[in-house]
Amino acid sequence: MKTKYASLTCCILSTIIFLFFFNIDCTGQSIALTSNGTSSYKIIASRQSSSTYATAQSLSNFIKQISGATVPVSDDDIQPQEKEIIIGNNKHINALHLNIDLSKVKDNECIIKTFGNTILLYGRNDSDAIDCVYWFLQKYLGCNMLSSEVTIVPNTKNITLTAINDDYTPPFTYRDLYYKDTYDSMYTKFNRIDHFDAGGQNRKWGEIWSASFNYVIPAKKYFSTHPEYFALNEKGKRIPNQLNVSDEGMFNEYIKNFTNLMKRYPNSKIWSVAPNDASVPNYCHCPQCETINKREGTPMGALLTFVNKVAAKFPDKIITTQAYMFYEEPPKTIKPAPNVLIVEAGSYLLNHAVPYETSNEPDVVTYRRRLEGWLALTDKVRIWDYVTNYFYLMCPFPNLEVQQKNLQYFARLGIKDVFIQGNIAKGGDMSELRAWLLARLLWNPNINYDNTMDYFLNHYYGKAGPFIKEYISLSTSSLLKSGIPLTVHDSVSKHSTGFLSSNSLAQYNQIFDNAEKAVKDNPGQLDRVKTARLSLMYATLETNKALTAKNKSNVSALSSADNKSMQDLLEEFVQICKKHNIVVLSKDTPTVESYQADFSKHVK
Ligand SMILES: [Zn+2]
Repeated sequence: MKTKYASLTCCILSTIIFLFFFNIDCTGQSIALTSNGTSSYKIIASRQSSSTYATAQSLSNFIKQISGATVPVSDDDIQPQEKEIIIGNNKHINALHLNIDLSKVKDNECIIKTFGNTILLYGRNDSDAIDCVYWFLQKYLGCNMLSSEVTIVPNTKNITLTAINDDYTPPFTYRDLYYKDTYDSMYTKFNRIDHFDAGGQNRKWGEIWSASFNYVIPAKKYFSTHPEYFALNEKGKRIPNQLNVSDEGMFNEYIKNFTNLMKRYPNSKIWSVAPNDASVPNYCHCPQCETINKREGTPMGALLTFVNKVAAKFPDKIITTQAYMFYEEPPKTIKPAPNVLIVEAGSYLLNHAVPYETSNEPDVVTYRRRLEGWLALTDKVRIWDYVTNYFYLMCPFPNLEVQQKNLQYFARLGIKDVFIQGNIAKGGDMSELRAWLLARLLWNPNINYDNTMDYFLNHYYGKAGPFIKEYISLSTSSLLKSGIPLTVHDSVSKHSTGFLSSNSLAQYNQIFDNAEKAVKDNPGQLDRVKTARLSLMYATLETNKALTAKNKSNVSALSSADNKSMQDLLEEFVQICKKHNIVVLSKDTPTVESYQADFSKHVK
């Protein structure tokens, strides 16, 4: 007993002495996090959150890599000291009497604040606290994860900070970026990305997340026995690829099957109820559906009536449906139920060369009207945007300039959720740059975009960075000059009189020759430049293939867009793809091998 009291007295005394000697509210001083490769700091995180504690250890590892200093991670049960990095909710915030009112902090808000030498990285829940740590690493310690393979870590024995008072809530609270690299677990955390399908049994979205009717009411199982479950086409014929959303029997079966499907991921909150992506799209024209659709001015009328009915059966879930194709126009009188999320995916068919907000093209004007119409009906609208060539993944797609403006537009509209569909297969036009820039914009659409792009280019491509920038600028301006719309299914030939003309390709190839020369002594960077060149090589190959087909008698002259013969270029293209496990090039040639075999027929 005596020992216990003695230790308690000692503890109280040391706390009083500590508070007396340290002015923990002082500001303006410089903070030596590490000094000459050593540190007297500790990182404090509650062990009660394993994810936050693991992130604290990650922060410690980065500090070690930067400075050589060991900053140990401790639970918040230890005695507080002034020199601490405190992460998330823990006892040391109160123990150190930090002057902050945490009751006012909202979800998604990230606070980086210094109190004298104490550094607080605070979010009210674990995921916000983790975002704070990586934001701190990026903004104040100069670390960056540019791709799943390239991480930038500065090298200094002395990490010195000045007083920080950062309080930021990203406009988009759900930031989903569908690129291969973004699924690397560290990349996801570092760049603060969400994924609808990540988290195993705890994934946010159930396994049904997009076009989904066929999963719940498969035509194979029901069409022959219950044709009334399926849509009537304009000629009065039942079609198996879409449902009759007004049929009561189908609704009952849907609820029964959907309930069973949900049991596989009971913790998933969001589930999709959306029409199939049919090769011949249609919707139900039965009298009941037609009556609602006529009244509502859109086939979304009958669909949303059905979706609302499903949502009423699952009040603790969010039911999503897609405002897309026939269903993009908002209904005139009915509104989405409170637990219905509308996924606006109408940008699919638009011209991606100009920003959505300022384009005067009629279909873009319609897109804006519909999107803003949905926002008048509900605040639960998620954007599903397309940022790359969906059909020809390897085709150059110079739309980087519009990304910031589009995300600023969505933020201004008050949209909180964004899903950006890039390229989930490895490869594609400048995937690493696109993914990283889009992650930056999703976090903060008002960054200095030009400087941010330069940062990536100069760190990822080294001395070749300015040449890649020149290529991006030239291809973008050539596209705009051509006036040819840029859509997600453009082949190279569509732009053969525009930004992918033989003359333009020759200019781009010259720029890439210079880029390769600039990093010829750095094998890693040279490799990245060659990978970035793949889409240009693909465009050059495709252009020459088309020209050769037109004029078989003059092959060598037509291939002058590149100094190499087509066969050599093809060999090099395939070799680089194989080296980097790049397999998918386009919807027509799903593998590099099939592309090589098909192309070889043209270069005999
Ligand atoms: Zn119907």
